[in-house]
Amino acid sequence: MIDFRTTTIKELHELLKKGEVSVRDLFDTSLSRIKERDDEIHAFLEVFEEQELPSFNEASLLSGIPFATKDNILFNGLRAGAASKILEPYRATYDAKVAEILKGAGAFPVGRVNMDEMAMGTSTENSAYGPTKNPHDTSRVPGGSSGGSAAAVAAGMVPFALGSDTGGSIRQPAALCGVVGLKPTYGSVSRRGLIAMASSLDVIGPITNSVEDAELLFSLLSEEDNLDQTNVPLSVREKYRKQEYGKRIGVPRAFLEREGIQKEILENFYAMLEKLKEEGYEIVDVELPSFEYALATYYILQPAEVSSNMARYDGIRYGLSVDGETLRDVYEKTREEGFGKEVKRRIMLGTYVLSAGYHDAYYYRALEVRKWIRAELREVFSRVDLIASPTAPSLPFKFGEKKDPLSLYLEDIFTVPYNLAGNPAISIPSGISKEGLPFAIHLAAPLFSEHILFEAGKDVERVR
Ligand code: GLN
Repeated sequence: MIDFRTTTIKELHELLKKGEVSVRDLFDTSLSRIKERDDEIHAFLEVFEEQELPSFNEASLLSGIPFATKDNILFNGLRAGAASKILEPYRATYDAKVAEILKGAGAFPVGRVNMDEMAMGTSTENSAYGPTKNPHDTSRVPGGSSGGSAAAVAAGMVPFALGSDTGGSIRQPAALCGVVGLKPTYGSVSRRGLIAMASSLDVIGPITNSVEDAELLFSLLSEEDNLDQTNVPLSVREKYRKQEYGKRIGVPRAFLEREGIQKEILENFYAMLEKLKEEGYEIVDVELPSFEYALATYYILQPAEVSSNMARYDGIRYGLSVDGETLRDVYEKTREEGFGKEVKRRIMLGTYVLSAGYHDAYYYRALEVRKWIRAELREVFSRVDLIASPTAPSLPFKFGEKKDPLSLYLEDIFTVPYNLAGNPAISIPSGISKEGLPFAIHLAAPLFSEHILFEAGKDVERVR
């Protein structure tokens, strides 16, 4: 039987082309892997067991390839609930742009996978349907919010999965599960049909077994979309894209060597840099003083946007509706019952920072810091081609180990700056710890310069 973990999408395509496997075989492989492992791992919220499979078309590399989709991406006619009770009965009435692209290329979803409710979290412990477990050690979290996507790929249940990343939600779970996670440049992959969380930060991206697969998927998913107003036209992307580049990697050493980062993680990271040096990479120290404020900035802007995006769940328009005597009663009861604790916390934080007396002190100042982060990155990227760090400050942690929201928020310390600035970034496995848990390196590149990530990423895979 085929092992999705070690077979690239191009190799699967070749096997289909030669007739050595059929689309049905790939589907069956996926189903049997799910049967074998998902009772324990709980990556899937729903498996589309009864479905008509696409026929193989050799003109498309994705034809006949199964995948898993995060529960916040719309596929016409299928349920999508962002792992929230408030969307429990909801079914999509149209295709997300990425769904349109993948289906158009002949790929098909095997099922929808678990996530932190509304994509808020870093461990999938916030899902209304119970957590997903890390395939490397089921007593540990898979990361989040795209924990189901990363676990499904890491357990060999699908060749790739879709995720979304607002502060680290593709890269951190990819890191914790030992797979590749790409957060594309904001505005390069359409958000149409992604259940909105924090609209100025959200981006859809692939979780894969290899950088090659991430590159292939990005080339398709990044199609221009004039129905998403925040999607950037190709002609503009071309202007930003760094055409001339080399092998200069910036390392924000002062930012990395901090309390709270596990020693083993830093050791693995520096060892990787040494290996890259041998490949001809130049490693230079860079200073990014604004990064110290990135997490605090995120936790003002993200809740602010959440509070307005969550306002649409009122018990009238979508999903769950709890009866009440007055309209206000319906709102209150629906939201009380439908939203989990973390979502409520963010709504309250967001409402506070946007309230009349406070928006100058919090929201507008956070926007200023965001500009500062962008400006610093622009300046640093005029001198280096990549910025490297570990993806997350800790190895996969045990369920319940991080209970207070702050220590969970800290998981995103290295990933969040690039959401605020929009830059593309990728997480790539970089080894295994003594306990058998995955390490990962995080590379970020100039705006619309994913090509630099793919080139360097393949070097990482070769030397790790
Ligand atoms: N962990 C961050 C949060 O809880 C980011 C989540 C994400 O990227 N969707 O908001």
